[in-house]
Amino acid sequence: MLDLIHARLEGAFGRERLQRVNRAQVVVIGAGLLGGQLLQHLAMLQVRTLIVDPGTVEPENIGNQGLPADRVGEPKARVRVSQMRELNPSCPVRGFEVPIEELGLGVLADADLILTGLDGRASRLTVARYAQQLGVDWIDAAVDGSGERLLGTISWFRPGVEEQPCYGCRHDAESLARITREERRAPCASWRDPRLPDTPPTLTASPFGALVAGWQMTWALQALLGEEDQNVGHQLQIAASGRPRTRTVALHRRADCLFPHQTLGPLQRLDGDGVEELLVRAKRDLGTAPSALLFPGRSLAVGLGCSVCGATMDLVKLAAEVSDAEASCSCSPGAERTPVVLTDRIEGATLDRLRGRSWSALGIPAEDLVSAESGERRIHYLLPSRSEGEAR
Ligand SMILES: [Zn+2]
Ligand SMILES: [Zn+2]
Repeated sequence: MLDLIHARLEGAFGRERLQRVNRAQVVVIGAGLLGGQLLQHLAMLQVRTLIVDPGTVEPENIGNQGLPADRVGEPKARVRVSQMRELNPSCPVRGFEVPIEELGLGVLADADLILTGLDGRASRLTVARYAQQLGVDWIDAAVDGSGERLLGTISWFRPGVEEQPCYGCRHDAESLARITREERRAPCASWRDPRLPDTPPTLTASPFGALVAGWQMTWALQALLGEEDQNVGHQLQIAASGRPRTRTVALHRRADCLFPHQTLGPLQRLDGDGVEELLVRAKRDLGTAPSALLFPGRSLAVGLGCSVCGATMDLVKLAAEVSDAEASCSCSPGAERTPVVLTDRIEGATLDRLRGRSWSALGIPAEDLVSAESGERRIHYLLPSRSEGEAR
């Protein structure tokens, strides 16, 4: 039967184009209304797929996301992996049950295309940064989730190309700050919890979701096949309330965009989980010991101080991974320790103190990006993989 399926696809695509699709790797971020639709097509077309979604299947998802009612309470990424395998057992697929903010950049490093169907704009800013750093095409789709209007958009970004807009280009500093302020958790808890609050469920009915995702998937295939480049840097707008209409508009590059438009260039993969191993490798690659390590997009706590007794605690750890025990002081009930410094850059004596530590002990995610710096030079490393938080 598999031969028959393959023959039919080959008839539709042509052998060479089908091979190109089968060799590609696609990352789908958000496995809800839109993502679920995309995944069906990716399974049928046998595209190597990574699914990223931290959510679980909720009863209210059953009505519009194509998820089985008997799997309520299970991680959505895991359920989508099994749905894809039911459709096509030969399709290579992996699921990650974490928010995109907590995924190491290296997980996406071999991707040819990123597809998103996300609820919030703050998560899209993270995807924008990853796509930009890697220089990977990104096609984002959004639907009006209020349930009042049938409105959808699809935007195609191509990072690393001169004059192309990025997702950040449509925002000035004030609007970026507003997104971060409105969509992040309350400021008092934010140094330890970078995750986004749960967004209300999308109320769009599944047929319109299927329409938007179908169009997104059409662009996705064009991206994988290197066709229809005229849609790059454009947004397709679909309105189905009243008389249906579509239009395509050019997205504009902002001259003073706050997002870096350069890609990182080559990324070196590391084998060992120790800080020392990276420092030795970086010294060899740079020809001199690195003066600083950079953790783009991460927030590390360096030292914790009690606001009541003033005692400090020596610690370097990803802020989100600081435990309740570490964040509370025994001097008085409710006394809280807060970071002396929150930084994405470790240097000097602090850097020396980290020798002998492991990246996992510092709370840095597997396959995360760490850049070693010496003067003007930077070399970018991807930490090794671990197999936690992954749906198999
Ligand atoms: Zn930009
Ligand atoms: Zn204290």
